[in-house]
Amino acid sequence: MVYWNDKGRGIPLTNGPCNPYGLYISCEACKHSTLMVWADVLNRWPLGTFSRDMARSLKCSQCGERQGSIMVAAQTP
Ligand SMILES: [Zn+2]
Repeated sequence: MVYWNDKGRGIPLTNGPCNPYGLYISCEACKHSTLMVWADVLNRWPLGTFSRDMARSLKCSQCGERQGSIMVAAQTP
């Protein structure tokens, strides 16, 4: 789990052979969460974007807060 306020930058976004299914994206303020498939992840952020910076750039569609967290979804739910 990577949070918007993590001290480290996390890991950079890569387009490798073992890509995950997608990312679970959650709002820590209101607990709203959604699943973003990997193709959409690659569309939204350039390769090399660090996971914490991705979490920071999220804005909750439900409450408008910028307190996102990201968790890798390894397989089709
Ligand atoms: Zn929210």
